[in-house]
Amino acid sequence: MPYDLARASLGEERARALWTLTERALERLEELAGNAFHRTGSLRLAADETEREELRREYEALRADRFTVEWEDELAPSLRGLFGGALRHPTDGSIQPARWVRRLGQLAADAGAEIREHSRVESLEGLKADHVVIATDGYSRGLLDPLDQVVLPTRGQVLVTAPLRGRLFTCPHYARRGYDYWQQTHDRRLVLGGQRDADLATEETREEATTPLIQGRLEVLAGQLAEEPVRVTHRWAGIFGRTADLVPLAGGVPGSDGLWVACGYSGHGNVLGLACGELVADAVLGKEPPELGIFSPSRFF
Ligand SMILES: Cc1cc2nc3c(=O)[nH]c(=O)nc-3n(C[C@H](O)[C@H](O)[C@H](O)COP(=O)(O)OP(=O)(O)OC[C@H]3O[C@@H](n4cnc5c(N)ncnc54)[C@H](O)[C@@H]3O)c2cc1C
Repeated sequence: MPYDLARASLGEERARALWTLTERALERLEELAGNAFHRTGSLRLAADETEREELRREYEALRADRFTVEWEDELAPSLRGLFGGALRHPTDGSIQPARWVRRLGQLAADAGAEIREHSRVESLEGLKADHVVIATDGYSRGLLDPLDQVVLPTRGQVLVTAPLRGRLFTCPHYARRGYDYWQQTHDRRLVLGGQRDADLATEETREEATTPLIQGRLEVLAGQLAEEPVRVTHRWAGIFGRTADLVPLAGGVPGSDGLWVACGYSGHGNVLGLACGELVADAVLGKEPPELGIFSPSRFF
């Protein structure tokens, strides 16, 4: 959530602890991900005056707590007609997700983990383990009733274009409060997602399917951003899990010894997921990481 709102809803100390945790987790991700990760920075764009004021408030709040952030009035020519100002996070980065997942899988296997694919756990009953961690983000269903009540499956749709003529975007961009997001790959393809707000109710689903409405709107936006006719080569949809307060759930399930959860990243699990995974792993090993309190499932369960 925007940092100024985090300060208001979590309190200044917790908001600072949460942001610091994500910066630490990003360093950890960089250490683990190798060439799947690049420190490109990121831009959050203001689509109208209201959003510009919101971003300015967040910028001031981040600066007040001495986090690295920049404000930009001068946007690249391709953005000028569409957006008025941007907040830049210079230390943010971009991951190539398939490469990252393979690398993480390899590291886990090297450390002795056994990975079973195409083998859905239908019930927690009968699992032979001292500890069970449910880390299914938006795909949780049927395993733990309170989790199904609290983590709302939400669909994000994406498209990819054929390589554009020019390199227009050198880092991930977010606009309209995260309802639109895109980046350009090294081979100059535009990867663009979002437009969920065109039909919020239909997009609250666990069905991994694209729809003509959202894809059509993404195509229009791709054309505006690319400043040239675009050809779409790939489309997909994925599910993420949202919580009511947009804060993930991580920690022990109250009243169930040895049962843990780590999910509900509300669309931001690449870094938060790694952070929460490591916090829960520490807790399973008997440590008591203080940051786990921020994510306590007992606030809902
Ligand atoms: C379109 C889109 C764009 C996104 N963009 C960003 C972004 O820019 N930045 C960001 O930080 N995050 C982003 N996210 C969110 C991010 O992808 C997730 O938060 C992250 O993948 C969560 O990681 P995870 O490992 O916890 O869960 P997931 O990656 O969702 O993995 C959960 C796994 O659990 C498996 N599973 C579920 N149930 C069972 C079961 N019963 N038995 C066995 N296996 C099961 C699933 O098959 C899946 O493999 C985006 C998500 C989407 C859909």
